[in-house]
Amino acid sequence: MISKTFLLEDEQATIKLGDHLAQCCTQQTTIYLHGDLGAGKTTFSRGFVRSLGHVGNVKSPTYTLVEPYQLADWMVYHFDLYRLADPEELEFMGIRDYFTEDAICLVEWPEKGEGMLPEPDLHIDIRYDGEQRQATLRAMTVYGNKLVEQMELAE
Ligand code: ADP
Ligand code: MG
Repeated sequence: MISKTFLLEDEQATIKLGDHLAQCCTQQTTIYLHGDLGAGKTTFSRGFVRSLGHVGNVKSPTYTLVEPYQLADWMVYHFDLYRLADPEELEFMGIRDYFTEDAICLVEWPEKGEGMLPEPDLHIDIRYDGEQRQATLRAMTVYGNKLVEQMELAE
């Protein structure tokens, strides 16, 4: 399984990374997003869902836990589990219904839902690097490997 690290000089670069990755997805995809508050997980997600046709706001669903986007080819579910008190709550949300064949799931704070979420195709770790960020993509499945292979931050 491969991993790649990208230097993200500014917010635009993070958006572009999300945009590129979204364009590479060809099947059901689960992506875990890791990083401190303010690292850029939601910024990445914004680039991702806009790339697939969403027009408008993309905010972290901090209180609702999940925001659905019905897009041309995919359902995208953007999770923010920061406020989840107990992974068991995901059972009541009907968590299994989100990880379906035509769905791409982006999950911020996946560790809060440990044991209740499917394994990801890839992990994305975003770290502070001065004013900039570094993002590491780590594949966990054969499909995830293909995604990471295709990722180059060309202009
Ligand atoms: P998170 O969802 O990880 O808590 P957000 O994406 O909501 O983080 O916020 C990231 C903040 O950091 C935004 O205010 C954004 O403008 C700022 N920022 C600065 N540099 C970058 C960068 N390279 N990538 C992403 N965000 C950046
Ligand atoms: Mg966020």
